[in-house]
Amino acid sequence: MTQFTSKNENIISNEQFTPDKILQAKKIITTMQNKVQSYVEEGHGPFLCAIYDDKGNLISKCANSVVNDACSNCHAEINAIKEAERKLGTYDLSQFNLRIYITSEPCMMCLGAILWSGIKEVYYGVQSKDVEAITGYDEGFKPNWFEEFAKRGIRAYGNIEADLGKEVLKKYVRDGHVIYKPLRK
Ligand SMILES: [Zn+2]
Repeated sequence: MTQFTSKNENIISNEQFTPDKILQAKKIITTMQNKVQSYVEEGHGPFLCAIYDDKGNLISKCANSVVNDACSNCHAEINAIKEAERKLGTYDLSQFNLRIYITSEPCMMCLGAILWSGIKEVYYGVQSKDVEAITGYDEGFKPNWFEEFAKRGIRAYGNIEADLGKEVLKKYVRDGHVIYKPLRK
């Protein structure tokens, strides 16, 4: 499948889209990137996630809490999906036409969580290859996920305001915050 690229901004997607489609995503992701630092200062990881409905109502917003919760799966997406499901009282979010906005591309675990949740659209900032290059996190193996999501009717848009996101991650590393990952042989 072709990954559609907008001319000016290198936004990638698994559907053909017009730039105005991602205007709201740009605002939300920019706002979140600018809040990352305050969460990091409270011990969170450098990733934020928010879930909105198709009318623009905020359903949940969470940061990565791996370190402060001592839990390897407390990624921002998992935290936000759990909060949304609790709030809406269901394990199946598909009826609500929800959109998930994330400061960086979901890792392999979070892609699975999004798939199971019934969320319909994914918008993210920094691509995994850039997250890994900057931070050293291992985002996992995710073959053809754009294509696999498209097959399931889940639209995805990435590399949104990525330059800002990369600066946020570089600062996290520069400031000496923990890069949590298991030891590998
Ligand atoms: Zn994740």
